[in-house]
Amino acid sequence: MSNMGILEQINFLKDEINKANHQYYVEDNPSISDFEYDRMFAELKELEAQNPLLITSDSPTQRVGSISEKFFPYKHKYRLYSLDNTYNYEDLEDWYNKIVQEYGAQELVCELKIDGLAIALTYENGIFVRGVTRGDGITGEDITNNLKTIKAIPLKLFKPVSVEVRGEIYMPKTSFEKLNEENLQNGEKLFANPRNAAAGSIRQLDSSITAKRDLSMFCYTAIFTGEIENPPKTHYESIMYLKELGFKINPNIRLCKNAKEAVKYCQEWDEKRFNLNYATDGVVIKVNNTAVQEEMGFTSRAPKWATAFKFPPEELTTKLIKIEEGVGKTGAITPVAILEPVQLGGSTVARASLHNFDEIKRLDVRIGDTVYIKKAAEIIPKVVKVIDDEEHFSRPKYNPPQKCPSCNSDLHFHDEEVNLYCDNPNCPAKVCAKIEYWVSKEAMDIDNVGPSVIEQLYNKGFIKNCVDLYKLTIQDFMQLDLVKEKSAFNMYNAIQESKTRPLSRLLTAFSIRNVGKETAGVLANEFNTLEKLKNASVDELSCVDGIGDIIAKEIYDFFHDEENLRMLEELKSLGVEPVSVQANITDEFKGMTFVLTGTLQNMTRDEASEIIKQKGGKTSSSVSKNTSYVIVGENAGSKLDKAQKLGVIILSEEDFLNMIKDKNL
Ligand code: NAD
Repeated sequence: MSNMGILEQINFLKDEINKANHQYYVEDNPSISDFEYDRMFAELKELEAQNPLLITSDSPTQRVGSISEKFFPYKHKYRLYSLDNTYNYEDLEDWYNKIVQEYGAQELVCELKIDGLAIALTYENGIFVRGVTRGDGITGEDITNNLKTIKAIPLKLFKPVSVEVRGEIYMPKTSFEKLNEENLQNGEKLFANPRNAAAGSIRQLDSSITAKRDLSMFCYTAIFTGEIENPPKTHYESIMYLKELGFKINPNIRLCKNAKEAVKYCQEWDEKRFNLNYATDGVVIKVNNTAVQEEMGFTSRAPKWATAFKFPPEELTTKLIKIEEGVGKTGAITPVAILEPVQLGGSTVARASLHNFDEIKRLDVRIGDTVYIKKAAEIIPKVVKVIDDEEHFSRPKYNPPQKCPSCNSDLHFHDEEVNLYCDNPNCPAKVCAKIEYWVSKEAMDIDNVGPSVIEQLYNKGFIKNCVDLYKLTIQDFMQLDLVKEKSAFNMYNAIQESKTRPLSRLLTAFSIRNVGKETAGVLANEFNTLEKLKNASVDELSCVDGIGDIIAKEIYDFFHDEENLRMLEELKSLGVEPVSVQANITDEFKGMTFVLTGTLQNMTRDEASEIIKQKGGKTSSSVSKNTSYVIVGENAGSKLDKAQKLGVIILSEEDFLNMIKDKNL
């Protein structure tokens, strides 16, 4: 790059970073992902290091954060710094090795880097007197009254100590989801992530709004401003002292002997972070000995005795290439975003969910836009936000399709639904989607017969519905691309084995509207045989717990449709005869309803449901006052909150396992 080119690039990066800073720190509405921000920041730092004469005092590399003019400014007594950061372990080891060379081997403290808003709290003789945001590190905003609404912040300490405490205000992930849901319903602004929601909530001019938001705080630094007995000599000791004074500290703090142990901690939490109910964007590694910390000092932005290892991003930006319209088993058309491939949460993402056409309208997604994509826990990535730069508005708005992408029939909205539907019963994409569901794990659980096999079988005219699967021969499979005798035999066998699946699976496979596997399980338990279910009246059906009038009518209609009756006869003649599982059912859980939430460690939720059903109990997907128990796994969501509110008994997975073992109800 020529000198002129370098200067241009430096100015470009400074402008972009300053714009992003304003959006992030002042508007609480980031315009680019943190990963992208950090990439530009690292490039600017590198260019400035190579060309020190081009560093200006207004460069973002020389400053921390930013302040808004919403609140009274307050000049910090002790400056608040940022942290240097890296996304790779080598840098972390280099940082440590340099310290060792100069100061000898050092013990390190690893803490989770809480992705929230840095705050300084001042206590005089044990009384909370002031709370100020970090701002630009020198001056922050006085938000004392808002901070007083947060229960994790003690107003009076257990000892009359004078201390300045720093920590991070955060919003639990479940509360963030709830707040965004409410905002969506009320047509208000959605927050991009829990950090922005916390920052937006704590910087409200009306404290009563802050009080309604679920905020908390973890404390991670103490500066003692008065005399104390036995002042802590290490960072770790000072954190433990904060705990004694009544502050909330993060329980995952760990002492490490060297950089290797710190790397292990980072690797461990890179995996486990999704199970936490608060956002963490990395690990902060600090030299434990405070005397060494003092000797090492600070750069213009950050302490030299600490560094942050940042986790790879969970959320980032990429370009929307096109929107593909898929056809589901009910004929519902689902839009899927086709993206410029990016690495997200350990995998390459090239497609993301857009839910439905209402969501596209709400996001105002247009082809060519830069969009934020996000992986919520391990679930399919979704498009969460569009960057509405100038080009966005010059792009044509996206219009939902009017014709089915598979069969070209007209599409329709069904009453009060946000989905568009293809109503052609013979639509190839719809038929294939139905067959795919029939063979899926959730329904008839037929191994080896995946979507591409189904598509080929359909295109070659071997199958035109689910029943045809049972008419296939080994020779038919051998006519498919790349299928040899052994795999043809395996596919054929898997289909034959499915003929005697439990009734609940066959009912699930029928894809009756509103009858998922839960309801199918209830029906199978109640009626025991297909024959009895077929002959049930709407009244008999709606008397079953968990089956309302509408579902009862759907089931009745299904079993009184001539085409469906022909299908049942055909299935029977082909040997598809579901087995009754009623015989094994015991009654330990009779009359009890369980709700499962979160990830279980020793079994899947399906397996737990099966156990409950075998013991005569029921499972439900929502918590109500009629719920007997809520079984809570890791990363439990709003169902746990609801159970707590309604006073429903909450069981851990271990409690549940003990319950099964002891039958000690
Ligand atoms: P930072 O968030 O990377 O790190 C410093 C901060 O970490 C501290 O101020 C403190 O608030 C926090 N922290 C959390 N846990 C801690 C712990 N245990 N010990 C010590 N500190 C802890 O730095 P920053 O200066 O606040 O912000 C810069 C970062 O913010 C960037 O690296 C970027 O990721 C993000 N950012 C993003 C945008 C954007 O547009 N997306 C814009 C500006 C900043």
